[in-house]
Amino acid sequence: MMNERSELSKARRVVVKIGTRVVAEPEGGLNHHFLDQFARQIAELEQQIVVVTSGAVHLGRRALPLRRVDSVSRRQAAAAVGQPELMRHYIEALAKYGRIGAQILLTTEDMSDRSRYVRISNTVHALLEEGVVPIINENDTVSVEGVTFGENDKLAGMVAAIVRPDLLIFLSDQAGLFTADPRDDPEAQLVPVVQPGEDAMQYATTGGGDESLGGMYKKVLAARGAAGVGIPVVIADGREQDVLQRILDGEELGTLFVPSERAMRARKQWIATAIEPAGEIVVDDGARRALTDKDGSSLLPVGIVAVEGRFEAGDLVRIVTEDGQEFARGLVNYSGEEVKQIQGAHTRQISKILGHVGDEEVIHRDNMVLSGD
Ligand code: GLU
Repeated sequence: MMNERSELSKARRVVVKIGTRVVAEPEGGLNHHFLDQFARQIAELEQQIVVVTSGAVHLGRRALPLRRVDSVSRRQAAAAVGQPELMRHYIEALAKYGRIGAQILLTTEDMSDRSRYVRISNTVHALLEEGVVPIINENDTVSVEGVTFGENDKLAGMVAAIVRPDLLIFLSDQAGLFTADPRDDPEAQLVPVVQPGEDAMQYATTGGGDESLGGMYKKVLAARGAAGVGIPVVIADGREQDVLQRILDGEELGTLFVPSERAMRARKQWIATAIEPAGEIVVDDGARRALTDKDGSSLLPVGIVAVEGRFEAGDLVRIVTEDGQEFARGLVNYSGEEVKQIQGAHTRQISKILGHVGDEEVIHRDNMVLSGD
């Protein structure tokens, strides 16, 4: 377990989900103390942080004269009032520590549409490159599912799938996952670690109060999903002093969901065998050596000499040598047209050539399998 925890210190990119009960007082307004401490922690960390936050409905309800959120449209109205206020506080808290925050509002449909998904990912990466903190919430006013609480846990899981962080943290008002609901069972014990394949759902209660109906249930569901695709997840108490730094230092805070190695392998297996590649990327010998080296780098534009076939970002392609030998396959971050434009170029020229900022890698190492692997 030591090792699994200390692995977390290697994380470079982290998605942090903040629940309503952490960012706001249960019966009151925003928790300014929490937000100030959170902003300070983000500013002090070396890691790139992406925030997924709830709290819009809670703040909006307090501001509305009727204070009622008893229908879908009233909840959506409350979110429309509360979201700018929520963002204002985040932006101000971060500014105090010299950081810029950015708002991104998403619906689940945005994330199941591949062209939007690629745009979202590129925008988030462009913000991170500039040192900006992306702050994501559900776009509650257009969400057809109508602002169901607990949705943001799912949203955080989906954001993790897009942003590919090295760690996903849920900050909650509980110390972590317990064997039973600690609010009604004094025997409840904290579960320090959940191994891949272990049934964590048995502990997850659905409750959690009016404004966080997701409770542990939705969190565990999302945590299991992320760990299942190879991302470690920690659920911890957001009110702990320096909680982010301590988790990243490997301290045993909250519950760790150990990521599945097998899922990683299964994914690679799928890349290797399951689908017919849509095209080919021809690379020079330097690139072939870098990719087949045991440290395994990603495919950058500079080593690419030609593109064959028509493909879109997200498609599977063959990676071949100049004499046509396939030696790897992978999921490509750019369309064939785009790869043609950036082939041979340096990574820093990508945005200038394409007119938008994109991933540094044409194929990320995590999305690549070498022949014979
Ligand atoms: N998006 C909602 C809000 O900001 C919260 C949804 C949730 O708590 O899961 O108020």
